[in-house]
Amino acid sequence: MSNIVAIVGRPNVGKSTLYNRLTESRKAIVDDFSGVTRDRHYGVAEWVGRNFTVIDTGGYVANSDDVFEAAIREQVNIAIEEATVILFVVDVTTGITDLDDEIANILRKGKKPVFVVVNKVDHGLLQSDASIFYSLGLGEIYNISSMSGSGTGELLDEVVKTF
Ligand code: GDP
Ligand code: MG
Repeated sequence: MSNIVAIVGRPNVGKSTLYNRLTESRKAIVDDFSGVTRDRHYGVAEWVGRNFTVIDTGGYVANSDDVFEAAIREQVNIAIEEATVILFVVDVTTGITDLDDEIANILRKGKKPVFVVVNKVDHGLLQSDASIFYSLGLGEIYNISSMSGSGTGELLDEVVKTF
C-alpha cells in the first residue's frame, strides 16, 4: 500500500501552498480568505526516490464557528484514519490560536506520527518566533516557507523515514 501524507491545519496557514509544492501540481486552490468551500485534493509526490500520496484536507465550509470547528475536527479525524503520516501546518505570523490547540488535542489522541510544520518562516528573523510551537506538545517543529520552498527538503527527509 502506498504511503499517505495528510496535510491538516486551520484555514489560511498555507496547506494548499505546501500541497502544491510537494506535488508540483496546481490543482489545489490557494486563496487569501477563509470560508470558501474547497475540495479535498489527492496528489502524487516523490522525494529521494520514495513515492507517496499527499492529501490536502482543505475542504471546509465556514458558516458559523460551530460548523467550522466540527468540519475541522472531521477532517483531522479522517486524516488520522487514512494517513501514514500527518503534517500539522501552523502559521508563524499568527502564533498558536485556539483552533491550533484544538487540532493538536485531536492529533495527540491519534496514533499516527505528526510533524509540526511551522509555515511562513520566510526569513531567518522568524526562526525564533517559531519556537513557540514547541508548546503544542507534539515534539519537534519544522520551519518552512511553502512560498519559497525553504525547509521543505529537511522536512521530507524526516517524513520519508517513517515509511
Ligand atoms: P490554506 O487555507 O491552509 O490552504 O492556505 P493557502 O495555501 O490557501 O494559503 C493562504 C495564504 O497564505 C495565501 O495568501 C498564501 O499565498 C499564503 N502563504 C502560504 N504559504 C506561505 C509562506 O510560506 N509564506 C507567506 N508569506 N505566505 C504564505
Ligand atoms: Mg487550502
